[in-house]
Amino acid sequence: MSQLVDKPLIMANNMTDTITKPNASNDAAPSLQTSNTAGQSWFNREIPGIKQQLTAPLTAVETEPSTECSSCHSMITNTALIFNCYVCPHCDHHLPMSARERLNWLLDQVNGELGQEFTAKDPLSFVDSKPYPARMSEAQEKTGESEALIVMYGKLRNLDVVTCAFDFRFMGGSMGSVVGDRFVQAAEKALEDKVPLICFAASGGARMQEGLLSLMQMARTAAAIERLRIAGIPYIVVLTNPVYGGVTASLAMLGDIHLAEPKAMIGFAGKRVIEQTVRETLEEPFQRAEFLLEHGVVDEVVHRHQLIDTIYRLLAKLCHVPNLNAQ
Ligand SMILES: [Zn+2]
Repeated sequence: MSQLVDKPLIMANNMTDTITKPNASNDAAPSLQTSNTAGQSWFNREIPGIKQQLTAPLTAVETEPSTECSSCHSMITNTALIFNCYVCPHCDHHLPMSARERLNWLLDQVNGELGQEFTAKDPLSFVDSKPYPARMSEAQEKTGESEALIVMYGKLRNLDVVTCAFDFRFMGGSMGSVVGDRFVQAAEKALEDKVPLICFAASGGARMQEGLLSLMQMARTAAAIERLRIAGIPYIVVLTNPVYGGVTASLAMLGDIHLAEPKAMIGFAGKRVIEQTVRETLEEPFQRAEFLLEHGVVDEVVHRHQLIDTIYRLLAKLCHVPNLNAQ
């Protein structure tokens, strides 16, 4: 069990002398006479002639909704997790954030959302273990989102920005034609308003259910980013865990600046596929953000607690915001 849950439980046991429960006296009395005091702490020691009332341990802490850290397996209450930006307070592991939480966390003011009118088609009538429309409905029900990319525009402190974020829970953050549509619309909004574009990438790659149409999104998004580059509009990518496949090969690697969260896995093909292709055993951390930073693929690995400030300062420099140091 976790340290976080252990601590309140120790407190709860120590509190049994001071907090009494009326119904417990009958059950507890026989155990006082027969129990062995050896090995008990002085605080809980039974004193002959003094009747003690024992209570059941407090269980409120145990019942609070908690999430298990995938790295150190500590149980963290959801409230603590939200206050800590989904970073584990025990081992500093960065847990995943949903796209909507991510954008609401980043923006100080949300002025609107884009691309909700687009809906996915099933042009190939694709069926694997279940039909594509059934898979979509399942993902929509699970996440409460209509697609894997969310686009919002608003204010990051005093800067107007357009932001988008992939939701990895939605079919592995895969890029289908709607994701492409939404990204292009985000880029066009940034171009029209002459404001920076920020993208939080988290994806397994192209969406196989849409075949060639999903691969075409690589070219579409790349063309939209090129239009931003020509207009001199900053485009910042934040690589979160994990980013793979067609998303890495297009919009996630075409930023003016690439930031990454600690220990994020970033690559094109996965480790096993590369090993089978090159017939070599590869070292474990070769697709981690820190390794990619050493080899010049990403510009900076930024802790989530410093991420908003880093993005703001980079954009403020690129947009020539006056008196940056005074803010
Ligand atoms: Zn942890």
